[in-house]
Amino acid sequence: TIEFVRATQLQGDEDPSPPPASTQAQQKESIQAVRRSLPVFPFREELLAAIANHQVLIIEGETGSGKTTQIPQYLFEEGYTKKGMKIACTQPRRVAAMSVAARVAREMGVKLGNEVGYSIRFEDCTSERTVLRYMTDGMLLREFLSEPDLASYSVVMVDEAHERTLHTDILFGLIKDVARFRPELKVLVASATLDTARFSTFFDDAPVFRIPGRRFPVDIFYTKAPEADYLEACVVSVLQIHVTQPPGDILVFLTGQEEIEAACEMLQDRCRRLGSKIRELLVLPIYANLPSDMQARIFQPTPPGARKVVVATNIAETSLTIEGIIYVLDPGFCKQKSYNPRTGMESLTVTPCSKASANQRAGRAGRVAAGKCFRLYTAWAYQHELEETTVPEIQRTSLGNVVLLLKSLGIHDLMHFDFLDAPPYETLLLALEQLYALGALNHLGELTTSGRKMAELPVDPMLSKMILASEKYSCSEEILTVAAMLSVNNSIFYRPKDKVVHADNARVNFFLPGGDHLVLLNVYTQWAESGYSSQWCYENFIQFRSMRRARDVREQLEGLLERVEVGLSSCQGDYIRVRKAITAGYFYHTARLTRSGYRTVKQQQTVFIHPNSSLFEQQPRWLLYHELVLTTKEFMRQVLEIESSWLLEVAPHYYKAKELEDPHAKKMPKKIGKTREELG
Ligand code: ADP
Ligand code: MG
Repeated sequence: TIEFVRATQLQGDEDPSPPPASTQAQQKESIQAVRRSLPVFPFREELLAAIANHQVLIIEGETGSGKTTQIPQYLFEEGYTKKGMKIACTQPRRVAAMSVAARVAREMGVKLGNEVGYSIRFEDCTSERTVLRYMTDGMLLREFLSEPDLASYSVVMVDEAHERTLHTDILFGLIKDVARFRPELKVLVASATLDTARFSTFFDDAPVFRIPGRRFPVDIFYTKAPEADYLEACVVSVLQIHVTQPPGDILVFLTGQEEIEAACEMLQDRCRRLGSKIRELLVLPIYANLPSDMQARIFQPTPPGARKVVVATNIAETSLTIEGIIYVLDPGFCKQKSYNPRTGMESLTVTPCSKASANQRAGRAGRVAAGKCFRLYTAWAYQHELEETTVPEIQRTSLGNVVLLLKSLGIHDLMHFDFLDAPPYETLLLALEQLYALGALNHLGELTTSGRKMAELPVDPMLSKMILASEKYSCSEEILTVAAMLSVNNSIFYRPKDKVVHADNARVNFFLPGGDHLVLLNVYTQWAESGYSSQWCYENFIQFRSMRRARDVREQLEGLLERVEVGLSSCQGDYIRVRKAITAGYFYHTARLTRSGYRTVKQQQTVFIHPNSSLFEQQPRWLLYHELVLTTKEFMRQVLEIESSWLLEVAPHYYKAKELEDPHAKKMPKKIGKTREELG
């Protein structure tokens, strides 16, 4: 068992001894009654009046108060979608956009994709009739490419603004500009109770509309001592809560899909072993790539007598509200991108979350009754080790994508763009430099024809460059597949705990000389030959859902090829061409083997091949990688063997022959010679 100590209490606005019957009763009442019961409802008229009177309004309200689901509906009811005008509501996360749109469609009694729809990358569930569009912030950003003044929108609601994602931050600057010459456009910035004063200042002192909170107090507990293995500690604590605490569902915050799946497996496993000794525990995961039918399950009411535990990523922090949560378990970590503009290395790291985050998480326990939050760290760690707030993404990510987009929108002077928080100067500079190296910008920093094409493709600049390069190497069929498989990211191979050996054997069977990109290509090709069969996936330990998604992505990319003037062609088994096309996009991400392991070519950073890679044991001299992930070490994920001469072929402006000389090859003979001399 894990010992927790009660330390503090998160203040609530409600009497701590509530009539908890409300959840059950609410479920029975009609959906309209639920709508009327939300905290935002009493403010409907006042809110609509404020929107009518101000062009920009900042809306602040506790998570679950009805901002996302209700306000767009109020606007719809008020006639903001007359004359074919649309309302956009942005979400930082794809799961939230899908789930919220589905909920609103149900509340309005319409089919999802008709009046209410969602639009996320590679998936558009909208139609001509759609007037309420839930979309990721990235998708609204792309809308600017086809409609720079957002003329078909009457209202733009930038929701979850406090998350401060890169795309949301860029939207702020663009929307502020559009609002100046479209006085009839309404702009709403909605946020949890954080940061609203800053948003107001940014939008020329726009008024802040506060929706009063409705939250019960939450008791906060800390562990007595730090926990070494937080995953194990999580599993133990969930069972402990289940066995010792009164009814109420549990919400656990973990950092990503792999971790969540592992935790769910461990929980189910232990419940099975305990059998009828404990009450039923429903274990439900939620993360970005979870298919929508599985997502919907977390919202279903818990059957009487059972308890539900939802194991979630940050998505449940503020974007989604799950009814019935009384207990929150918070290990205190999140997965965060970080970026070093000096080396150009981006990495995804599990890091301690901020205090602001920890408090949002705790708040999830107090929605329906007084709750408890168990933190898997000490009170001391909370005080001394957590940052106050999370650094906005714009300050810890590479900006290639966004700079390319802004350039396409005709915004040239990026140093003076209206940023809420400016990115580091070096990061902007490096983005410009990389886009220049990729041929997207000319030496004056202007968009080239190739850059314009790259911006057309909804993927990272390096990936778009790779797709464009497939024209030259006549292998677009294969490159499309590689691009699609890279986009579904690390969820191709299935590795159940009880069949690890079988799963690993199955994976090794897909290995091809050359590296991981070709392995992915091989998996997809064989799957296609099987007739896209789910049975085939099952037999080969491949995740069918990921493959189906890869197929969707591939189709969409294929549909865009004509626009970027790339013809369909196949390499007919000549994989060198495929590898060269990949190198043409990823020549930035190269490493070479030195005496002391792998070093990146330009920056001389020490990096390692990920143990899951097909090249792990071969250790080729030159390679490129798709991404770096920092866990225990800087791991390169998805690596491909290349030849150094290819770098001169695909990026002569970036590499000099001298840099690519092999120190190994030159020094080795000398040394051997010396040794021989010494031996004598
Ligand atoms: P906010 O945006 O202010 O955090 P929301 O509009 O997302 O609030 O949620 C309001 C309420 O709608 C929630 O408290 C929840 O009861 C309900 N709700 C939202 N999404 C769903 C869903 N997918 N299924 C069931 N209920 C939902
Ligand atoms: Mg919301």
